[in-house]
Amino acid sequence: MDYVSTRDKNGRKYTIREAILMGLAPDGGLFVPESFPAIPGDFTMEKGFAYSASQLLYPYFEGDLEREELEEICRDAFNFPLSMPADGNKATLELFWGPTCAFKDFGARFLACYLERHLEKNGGDMTILVATSGDTGGAVASAFHGRRHIEVKVVFPKDRVSERQKQQLTCWDGNISSFEVEGSFDDCQKMVKQAFMDGSYGTLSSANSINIARLLPQMTYYVYSSFLYKARYGMDPVFIIPSGNVGNSTGCCWAREMGAPISGIVLAVNANRTVPDYIESGVYEPRQSIHTLANAMDVGAPSNMERLMDLYPTWEDFKDAVSSYSVNDYNIRLSIKQVYEKEGRIICPHTACGEYVRHAYFEDKPTVVVATAHPAKFEHIVEPMLGVKVPIPESLYKLFELDSRYWEISANYKALFD
Ligand SMILES: *Cc1c(COP(=O)(O)O)cnc(C)c1O
Repeated sequence: MDYVSTRDKNGRKYTIREAILMGLAPDGGLFVPESFPAIPGDFTMEKGFAYSASQLLYPYFEGDLEREELEEICRDAFNFPLSMPADGNKATLELFWGPTCAFKDFGARFLACYLERHLEKNGGDMTILVATSGDTGGAVASAFHGRRHIEVKVVFPKDRVSERQKQQLTCWDGNISSFEVEGSFDDCQKMVKQAFMDGSYGTLSSANSINIARLLPQMTYYVYSSFLYKARYGMDPVFIIPSGNVGNSTGCCWAREMGAPISGIVLAVNANRTVPDYIESGVYEPRQSIHTLANAMDVGAPSNMERLMDLYPTWEDFKDAVSSYSVNDYNIRLSIKQVYEKEGRIICPHTACGEYVRHAYFEDKPTVVVATAHPAKFEHIVEPMLGVKVPIPESLYKLFELDSRYWEISANYKALFD
């Protein structure tokens, strides 16, 4: 499989390894596969999700990895359960049983396993530099912890992350170090950008969500769960996906391109209305993000829109392919309360956007709402509202028990470099 830049489709072709190591194409575009292979004829779900994922990913890694190597990477990366409980034909795809209890564990762990194996085979060392305001940094730190040849530096803004998020960023030792910046998330991003431009820091990588190695694994759980749904209910489900940078939903669109039985794809966004406004008006207007209860989706200029618009180039194509609804904070709260009162299920504010959209617009359809994070990560919102304690999953509890350590630095690049 060859990869091309979204900004130069007839230009240079790249191998998967080049695409992963470069992250971003030289022209500033995002890497996309040149085509989408059909689901392999011998695809099976009997050997569990990790094996199925390796079968689906093989055509994308052919020439770079042997089947056995890819299977080992998938077993190492996806070493936690994937679960899809349901109430009638209303299913919930729980992607939060990984070590940091959010779906980002899938992509971050896959990338970490891939890079470790690459460096082990081909030599060299690498430093991952990541600016984070929440979930990403924790998933990346956890995924890379203890891996050979790779160091990770996590840069996060003081007072802008919750207590539990901070613990997830700072509870590591060994190859992970964290830096609390006296400034905003934008300051952190600026410092990281400067480090990349400076070039005096050795091999730097960003591990951010536009890396193709974080996206491809997100395609596999949609193929897997759509077949699982079809086997249970005999219908092709509509996936309702809480979305911010729209990477997770791009994975779903790619799964449908491969032939997965999916009858609809719905992007549930918070009050950041960029995507539904585009579908309504035909004018794409990225903007400043606004702060909401579903903070991991506070994105006004979704970075993976470039990939979605590459797949569906005209407005007509786009609105035929996906739909999108915006959910405000009031309705996020309403949805958390209603789901708890009706079903006894506690959901996080991101998943609540998906549940709200299901309830409001897809009540009579076969649906899968994607649960992107465990509610225990957002206990400061959920617990006071419902008046109950959210049980903490064991993986998360283990992180809370560890000692926290980090450097406090001022908001300039020199402080980080020193
Ligand atoms: C990152 C994140 C999202 C948004 O996913 P995108 O791929 O950026 O659309 C939704 N929910 C949670 C909990 C997240 O951490």
